[in-house]
Amino acid sequence: MSAALRPAPLPDTAALLDVRDVSKRFTPPTPIGDRIAALLGAAPRPATVHAVDRVSFTLPRGEVLGLVGESGCGKSTLGRMIAGIYEPSSGDVLFDGTPVMRGGRKRTARVQMIHQDPFASLDPRMKVAETVAEGPIAHRLVPRAGADAYVAEILTRVGLDPALRQRFPHQFSGGQRQRVAIARALAMRPDLLVLDEPVASLDVSVQAGVLNLFLDLRRDSSLTGVFISHDLGVVRHVSDRVAIMYLGRIVETAPTATLYAAPAHPYTRALLDSVPRLGQGRGIFRPIQGELPSPLAPPPGCHFHPRCPHAGPRCRAEVPALLPVTPGGSAACHLHHGGVGRSEPA
Ligand code: SF4
Repeated sequence: MSAALRPAPLPDTAALLDVRDVSKRFTPPTPIGDRIAALLGAAPRPATVHAVDRVSFTLPRGEVLGLVGESGCGKSTLGRMIAGIYEPSSGDVLFDGTPVMRGGRKRTARVQMIHQDPFASLDPRMKVAETVAEGPIAHRLVPRAGADAYVAEILTRVGLDPALRQRFPHQFSGGQRQRVAIARALAMRPDLLVLDEPVASLDVSVQAGVLNLFLDLRRDSSLTGVFISHDLGVVRHVSDRVAIMYLGRIVETAPTATLYAAPAHPYTRALLDSVPRLGQGRGIFRPIQGELPSPLAPPPGCHFHPRCPHAGPRCRAEVPALLPVTPGGSAACHLHHGGVGRSEPA
C-alpha cells in the first residue's frame, strides 16, 4: 500500500473497517464495430473506467463516515466494495480484521447495505414479514418458529406498525418502504451499515423522518456506518467524519466540524460554496466551474486541475498525496504540500 495515500491516523485506532489501497476498474463491453476493427488491427484498446482509485481509510467502531461527491465520483462503487457486493480489483477491504470478500463471495453478514431505491431493492412478490425474516432464518440468527415475533419487534424498532407485516412492498409509501429496507438490514444484526443515498429518492417531507430514524438507531445501538450522499447538508447531520471523493479518489477527509468550518481542498470549498443557503439573498449559489471529466479519460496529475482556480504546472503533472493538514484531517492538494509550481493567485 502506498503510505503517501493513507490519511492521517484516526484518534481511535481500533478500526472496525480498514479500507486498504482499494481500486475498482470496469471495462465496458467492446462494441461489435470495435471488435471487427480490432480483427483488422485498427481498434483502440478497450477503455477502462477507474471507478475507485487507490482509496484508503479506517473507521473506528461506533463512528459514521459521510462519503460525499458528485454523481459518478465512485462513492457508490466504494460502498459496494465495503458491503461485499463488488470485489476490489486491487487492495483489501477488511472488516474486523478479515476480508469482506474472498474468492468472489461475501464472507460476513455483519455488514449490510441500504440502497437508494427501496422499491427496486425489495422483492415485490414477498410480503414484508418474509422479506425481513428471510436473512435471519438463513443465517440461523433466529429459529423459524420465532421469526414472526422477531419481525414484529424489528418493524416496531423502525417505526412501522407490525400489523402491516403481511403486506407487499407496493402497499407502502416510499418512506415506509425505506423503513422496511432498514428493518431487513437490522434484522441481520449488523455491526456496520452502508447507506447509499438512503433518502435521495424520498419526498423532502419524509426525508427527515428516515434520517431521524437513523440517528435514533445510532444512539440506541452504537452502529458504525458509511453514509453515502451527494448532499452536504444531510451528511453534516449524521456523520462524525467526512470524506470527499472526486473521480475515484478521496481528496479530503476530516472530522465533520473541521471540514465544514475550514475546508482544506479547493474541491471541498467549491462543493460547500455551491450549496444554496436559505435567507442569505441572491448570488450565494455558485455552481462549480466546468464539467466533471469523463472517468474513461481522467485528467493527469490532480484530477481536479481543469476546474481548480489555483492549478499550477505541478498539478497537471503530479498526483497529490493525501497528507495531514489539520489534526485528524488530510487533503490531497499541492497547495498544502510544497506548492503548485508557481505563485498562486490570491
Ligand atoms: Fe488545485 Fe493543484 Fe490542489 Fe489540485 S493539487 S486541488 S489543481 S491546487
